[in-house]
Amino acid sequence: MGSFDERLADALAAIRQRGRWRTLRAAQLAPGGRIGQDGRGLIDLSSNDYLGLACHPLLAERAADWGHAYGTGAGASRLVTGTNAAHLAIEARIAAFKGTPAALLFASGWQANAAVLPALLAAAPGAAVFTDRLVHASMHAGLAGVRQHRFRHNDLAHLADLLARHGRAAPARFIFAESVYSMDGDRADVPALAELARAHDAVLMIDEAHATGVLGPGGAGLCHGVAGVDLVMGTFSKAFGSFGAYVACSELLRDYLVNACSGFIFSTAPPPPVLGAIDAALDLVPAMTAERAHLAALADRLRTGLAARGYDTAGSSTQIVPAIVGAEAATLALSARLAEAGLLAAAIRPPTVPAGTSRLRLALRATHSADDVDALLEALA
Ligand code: PMP
Repeated sequence: MGSFDERLADALAAIRQRGRWRTLRAAQLAPGGRIGQDGRGLIDLSSNDYLGLACHPLLAERAADWGHAYGTGAGASRLVTGTNAAHLAIEARIAAFKGTPAALLFASGWQANAAVLPALLAAAPGAAVFTDRLVHASMHAGLAGVRQHRFRHNDLAHLADLLARHGRAAPARFIFAESVYSMDGDRADVPALAELARAHDAVLMIDEAHATGVLGPGGAGLCHGVAGVDLVMGTFSKAFGSFGAYVACSELLRDYLVNACSGFIFSTAPPPPVLGAIDAALDLVPAMTAERAHLAALADRLRTGLAARGYDTAGSSTQIVPAIVGAEAATLALSARLAEAGLLAAAIRPPTVPAGTSRLRLALRATHSADDVDALLEALA
């Protein structure tokens, strides 16, 4: 073990030398778009609790109720004894919410992507895989060792060109993209992606982690009502104020995943208290139209203010607004200065984002006020 410990220490020393050393710090989400850290209350610009539901009493109550009713743990994987009425009820509600024939729960968004992609590829060995250059790390985890044709971010002409050149002879074609990109806060043109997928007979899977609850009719996401999106994946860990993930799809795909997706088959079913919180969020989210409008107005205000101060906001058109700084050290220094001024805005650096594009990733919550946005802009001035 001695020599392995030395290897670990060397790896950490290299990370430290690159200025990429990171540590875990306790923080406490609070109502009103606030977060507690080091005994202080800060304006929170770094969480993904977009609708403020993580502190909503209805979610906490129902989590407790479902824990009492169904138990705190599911007890087994879904195909053994882990499926109870709560799982089936939530899956039916998600399918209805997303407007798809079926839905399947996963332990987390990471796990869903990392598990579903290999299962899909296993059904068509030798398939051609096309991915947007900015898809999330969890999709890359699901594509480990797979040759990818990566198209320039949101550049559908490039995708069309790659499909024409590389997809024809393959037994199947897969396109993986997101509807809202987590670090840039920009949107994909989902109908155009779906049209392209249909034209090339490609299977299209879209990650709606950051759109679920926030965009689309009643917060149902940008894939809602778009024909030709075969699988929609999303999380409950962001606007739904809870945890876990779903894949919404056809009954055929659902049945296939239940029988062929290892990350589904061999993992314990999500715990009932978490499902209770999701159930409560499903009661609230479709009607949160005013909150969604407020969130969009805050994001407009922030983008306008950032542009006036010379910041590139990377094409953001959602509640995620990056302020591109560029150099890592300068981004860290800016983040530290904001913390002193009472604002938590974490610096996002490579490898999470490309080198030279370090940024403050500003994520708004519907519980923020215009004054909160103005306080941030003032602190940046
Ligand atoms: N997809 C995207 C686009 C994400 O941003 C994230 C979370 N950072 C995930 C998937 C993973 O979801 P979860 O946090 O629920 O594991």
